[in-house]
Amino acid sequence: MIIRNVRIVGAEPTDLRVENGLIAEIGPQPPGGRSVDGGGAVALPGLVDLHTHLREPGREDAETVQTGTQSAARGGYTAVHAMANTSPVADTAGVVEQVWRLGLEFGHCDVQPVGAVTVGLEGRQLAELGAMADSAARVRVFSDDGRCVDDAVLMRRALEYVKAFDGVVAQHAQEPRLTEGAQMNEGVVSGRLGLTGWPAVAEEAIIARDCLLAAHVGSRLHICHVSTAGSVEIIRWAKSKGWNITAEVTPHHLLLTDDLVEHSPAGAYNPIYKVNPPLRTRADVEAVREALADGTIDIVATDHAPHPVEDKETEWAAAAMGMVGLETALSVVQEAMVDTGLLDWAGVAQRMSLVPARIGRLTGHGRPIEPGAPANLTLYDPAARTLVDPAAFASKSRNTPYEGMTLPGRVVATFLRGKPTVLEGKLT
Ligand SMILES: [Zn+2]
Repeated sequence: MIIRNVRIVGAEPTDLRVENGLIAEIGPQPPGGRSVDGGGAVALPGLVDLHTHLREPGREDAETVQTGTQSAARGGYTAVHAMANTSPVADTAGVVEQVWRLGLEFGHCDVQPVGAVTVGLEGRQLAELGAMADSAARVRVFSDDGRCVDDAVLMRRALEYVKAFDGVVAQHAQEPRLTEGAQMNEGVVSGRLGLTGWPAVAEEAIIARDCLLAAHVGSRLHICHVSTAGSVEIIRWAKSKGWNITAEVTPHHLLLTDDLVEHSPAGAYNPIYKVNPPLRTRADVEAVREALADGTIDIVATDHAPHPVEDKETEWAAAAMGMVGLETALSVVQEAMVDTGLLDWAGVAQRMSLVPARIGRLTGHGRPIEPGAPANLTLYDPAARTLVDPAAFASKSRNTPYEGMTLPGRVVATFLRGKPTVLEGKLT
């Protein structure tokens, strides 16, 4: 098959020949044969998400492996890491293999299970990390995401343990005592609204501790959803020491601020903006953008967190935390990073495909677009404008903060090992 007229990470238009699921040749191709017209779209290596909540098993009312990976494919993703806070928790070889098999059977992209760090995410006892690593799912990323591994001794043991199989611990940095009952970012807006504040220090204190622990035991640490300027400073310092630390930022923390909780088109206290970690200030947004541009923050990860309407459209205090993100991620990154001149398309490819695949030790994804690489590709039209309509999402859930907004760009097509999963913006 020929994919015609595409601009590889934004370069001059060319054609790609795909054979047996691999990129066979790059360059002008003779007319005829089976072909897809890229229409001058930017070709990116298939996006890889290190942080997706697929909700299956247990919360199939919010999302399933099928609908979550359909959502991923529409967003240009060819692989997602499925977080472990399912029901049952993915804390044994049996459960991670179950998720992995669901991915093989129903996935519109590859599904790589994340294993829990502690049994039941309870923070008391290490889960069977080695058994999950040795299982058919070959787990390399371990996280209690949704909860912080706040016990320093358990965190140390986990960091030591995963070294044996080149794994990484992905920490959800949230000091639990400092965030008891917390509802939104602690600052002037939370003060005016009378909501319990979530201080930046609750994130920063855990990040600082874990950087020191990772250095002490010589292990790999990944920091989930960095949201504050102070976190950026700590990570910059830790990286300057040469420590093996990586970090992610979500699309929403690159674009949205805490004053939306007070002033939004839908008024104050709209739980669509309730998320963990919370939306922060304009200064924090500027800091995480700059950090993503200069490499202090390595990657963009969606933290796609689907919730059914009844868990989200309720009063602020009772509402679930989280936002769906797979189908809008690339557009939000374009708005925050590309259209502002902070990143070019090669930089986006690094941060949304190559580096997340490397952190997750996913072979077969995150390869530069060149002959011999698997034909995992995203075709993206940055000149398009898309009005965000949650009813059109492939996700089972609709909890997007971008409803009614016009975002730049559109995913035109996604290819998984040469096979289209999305064509002309629609699932195949
Ligand atoms: Zn989290």
